[in-house]
Amino acid sequence: MAEAGTPSGPAPGAAVRAAEPATPDRPSYDVKLRADADGSHWAGRQTVSFRNASSRPLREVYIRLWGNGEDGCGTSGRPSPVRVSHVRGGTPGRPGVKCTALRIALPRPLARGERTAVSFDVALTVPARNNRFGREGAFRFLGNALPVLAVHDARGWHLDPYVSYGESFYTLASDFRVRLDHPSALKVPATGSTWTRPGGTGRTVTHSVAKRVRDFAWAAGPFRTATQTSPDGVRVKSYWSPNTPAAGVRLNRKDGVAAIDRFGREFGRYPYGEIDLVMTPGFAGGMEYPGLVILGTEEEGGATVHEIAHQWWYGVVGNDEYNSPWLDESFAQYANARYYRWDGFECSPDDSWPSATAALTNSMAYWSTHRGEYFQVVYGIGPCVLADLEHVLGAGTMARLIKKYAHDHWYGVSTTAGFKKAAQSMTHRDLGPFWRKHRIR
Ligand SMILES: [Zn+2]
Repeated sequence: MAEAGTPSGPAPGAAVRAAEPATPDRPSYDVKLRADADGSHWAGRQTVSFRNASSRPLREVYIRLWGNGEDGCGTSGRPSPVRVSHVRGGTPGRPGVKCTALRIALPRPLARGERTAVSFDVALTVPARNNRFGREGAFRFLGNALPVLAVHDARGWHLDPYVSYGESFYTLASDFRVRLDHPSALKVPATGSTWTRPGGTGRTVTHSVAKRVRDFAWAAGPFRTATQTSPDGVRVKSYWSPNTPAAGVRLNRKDGVAAIDRFGREFGRYPYGEIDLVMTPGFAGGMEYPGLVILGTEEEGGATVHEIAHQWWYGVVGNDEYNSPWLDESFAQYANARYYRWDGFECSPDDSWPSATAALTNSMAYWSTHRGEYFQVVYGIGPCVLADLEHVLGAGTMARLIKKYAHDHWYGVSTTAGFKKAAQSMTHRDLGPFWRKHRIR
């Protein structure tokens, strides 16, 4: 995410078993949805199969309904924006965590290595606000709208609350096969490789296949479109509302092509082949999804470079965005700052901490009650700390560290401990004082 106008979690409990693998893993989603006349409502069926990677029997799964984050359980006259019903393959409980989590008890425990599936009807109502799951004029954004599996690991089930100005999301790399049936007047950019086929009268079906992604997002509206292929072979598809400033669209498209190739060289080749830039003038800041970024776009462009950096930091290299937001946001900002040669960034030698309790590795639980510190620390100090690490290690060593770290966690999960260990392995100098000074805990 990028703030509008600007370019370690809870202490582990004693019972934490470091070797407990995250599960359910290798999820595979099959989704068929049909839109109403203007893309405000989508309804259909969703199936997700998954494997138990844990040594312990899996007795339940949780589905996260992040699209209910802003509205919660709704009211009798205005139900939740995301509704799930007719569950098969398990027994649903009552939605919890303000209707953002649904427990589904499995009919029998799933042994290690076994696969099973659950399926359900899903109904989505795009909320009437300009947001990642929201709308702007005739344009609909369906970010975090599709239900996704929660993760269970050594800390138990991750059932963290929604945070409106950051991300609480944590998912494992998944496969998606999605069929979106919509009026032909609507263009539908989506995660993954997409193609269209004629549907019923006046309708088009947008198909998408996405492999090893953490989420699936789409948008719908009478977008203008253009496609370019980057020198390194990535298809950059641009979608913008007609009232988006043309100069900003041009700049975003140029930055999009340049950034996807540059970061591909720095972190490892972009693996998905295609990325969509979705641009409107009123969207606040920017928001990242695998293969699709939403960019509030002014004459001066938008947060294209930052959001494209997220394709690696959160996307390819995942992390628990609730417990360790710095692992995606500070890394994306560091990549962004390097792209712009630190133009507009100022780093102070003492990090300028806003309080005694602020630390780079704090979780969204902390930032939820220290909102004023969040952007300053995670977006401002974070990239400066990584620049200081570059200074300590040397530019060449830092570049090798980042690329190797991405390679070693490709489609996996980054952790603060894992990054510290990787950095320490690159130097004989004890980095303990460095971590302490920069409040990396
Ligand atoms: Zn971001």
